[in-house]
Amino acid sequence: MRRRLAAGNWKMNGTSADLEQITALMAAHPAPTVDLLLCPPATLIHAAARRVADHPMMLGGQDCHAEPSGAHTGDISAEQLADAGARAVILGHSERRQGHAEQNAQVCAKARAAQDAGLMTVICLGESLDQREAQTTLEVIGAQLADSVPDTATADTLVIAYEPIWAIGTGRIPTPDQIAEVHDFIRARLQQRFGADMGSAVRLLYGGSVKPDNAATVFAVSNVDGALVGGASLTADQFSPIITALE
Ligand code: PGA
Repeated sequence: MRRRLAAGNWKMNGTSADLEQITALMAAHPAPTVDLLLCPPATLIHAAARRVADHPMMLGGQDCHAEPSGAHTGDISAEQLADAGARAVILGHSERRQGHAEQNAQVCAKARAAQDAGLMTVICLGESLDQREAQTTLEVIGAQLADSVPDTATADTLVIAYEPIWAIGTGRIPTPDQIAEVHDFIRARLQQRFGADMGSAVRLLYGGSVKPDNAATVFAVSNVDGALVGGASLTADQFSPIITALE
């Protein structure tokens, strides 16, 4: 069975004072029965890793470069994330696809680099509102999945997050049927491409306006193995009930 995963994405939020939220989260969940992943800004990973040393919570980055080192001012490699204490990295988030023009092929190259550095990859897919209204959601998700996920992915290193762009930070959330349609589609595509065993073992997260009051509804949907949470992961008060709903 797939072990469920609650992942938090702090985006460009948080300074060292917010490390207290991580401490509070560990205190609220001393022995979690689901996997926990928190992705603070890269500036906090090292300090956060020291705090979580004796707790199963994993830390992750929010992006990495496709190369291990070199002349890339401002970028961070997967090796550097791992060295700072990260065990995972979010890749292909829609805010990077939109704000930094990241293409599927680039996301795929980053995923290979992350895997080589021993990081688990949380690869994000999602359609815009225009694409949903034009009824091209599955086509868009299928292409992103095919081209963003490397052939070398394994069940241990690959997590997929379905995040409809129109649901991120908006308070709008798809219906359970809409989530199920996309998650079942992703599951079937993974099984076709990687075989039944691996395709069935990869975890699929839903992301976009997951909050304490809708988490249980989302987690009851078929093929939803957890959530990638933005705004509600910033404070232990908000993230903790979401983790409890998953347990
Ligand atoms: P949100 O963000 O929970 O604030 O909608 C989710 C995400 O972008 O990962």
